[in-house]
Amino acid sequence: MEREPTSLQEAIVYFADSYNCRDYVVARRWPDGVTCPTCGCADVIFLANQNRWQCRNRHSQRQFSLKTGTIYEDSPLGLDKWLTATWLVSNCKNGVSSCEVARALNITQKTAWFMDHRIRFSLGMGPGNKLSGQVEADETFTGGKARNMHASKRAKRITGTGGKDKTAVLGILERGGKVRTKVVENTKKKTLQSELREHVLAGSALFTDALKSYDGLDEFQHEVVDHAVEYVRGEVHTNGLENFWSLLKRGINGTYVSVEPFHLFGYLDEQAFRYNNRNGFTDKDRFDLAVRQIVGKRLTFDQLTGKDQPEWTLGQPWA
Ligand SMILES: [Zn+2]
Repeated sequence: MEREPTSLQEAIVYFADSYNCRDYVVARRWPDGVTCPTCGCADVIFLANQNRWQCRNRHSQRQFSLKTGTIYEDSPLGLDKWLTATWLVSNCKNGVSSCEVARALNITQKTAWFMDHRIRFSLGMGPGNKLSGQVEADETFTGGKARNMHASKRAKRITGTGGKDKTAVLGILERGGKVRTKVVENTKKKTLQSELREHVLAGSALFTDALKSYDGLDEFQHEVVDHAVEYVRGEVHTNGLENFWSLLKRGINGTYVSVEPFHLFGYLDEQAFRYNNRNGFTDKDRFDLAVRQIVGKRLTFDQLTGKDQPEWTLGQPWA
């Protein structure tokens, strides 16, 4: 097998070969050998002419492909296009628009848009452990018009303060660790504090601005920096999150023409993925991690296709 790609240009050449695509994804999805997605057994045969496997156990859905049970499932697009799009989304620092993906892959913008959303969804972080140590929390408002949003959600989303057409986002950053983001209905005390209690370990040092909603977080070593007075007081600041917000907004405003609030989850996850995997990671590493997440997402496919709708939706069913 050829050396695995380390740049976009190499990735395009490498994944133009369907055997390379298959070997690459198989090695990540089934590092210990191919197993049946339905029953989990390893007693499977490869049907080379169909590029599928068949389980020897007698049950329904005995045949499966590399795409079965992943975000690629039911997509008519080849792995060459999926993997190249994944490379673009996981590595472009300011995000990549569906127009750029469409041009790079010679597909329609609608198709590219749908691929982008599936890839972003797969990059979303699981709940994980609570953040601890020194933790910054900050809220921001982003996104644009609330049109095209389901009426009930629209009513909920635009009730926050700070502009009725903006969407409130809470960010929580563990210094030296990871960032988490959450679209919140508003920035009221009850909303923000319940998120912080869910995501931050009690006893951690917690740094926020002087927003009244943060008053009374007594289970943390809570320190406040009043931005009307100063931005930094020793360790007390929220500069880590300010940096993250500026990256996020540069991506949203510079790369995407507009982000509907109900797509914001995906963009937040995408930006957090790149942010959390920035240090010591090469483009190849980030891509590798993205592919592992994609092929590991078995339960989420039903959510994507609307059988089990998550909080955000894909909008028009284009694929
Ligand atoms: Zn089976």
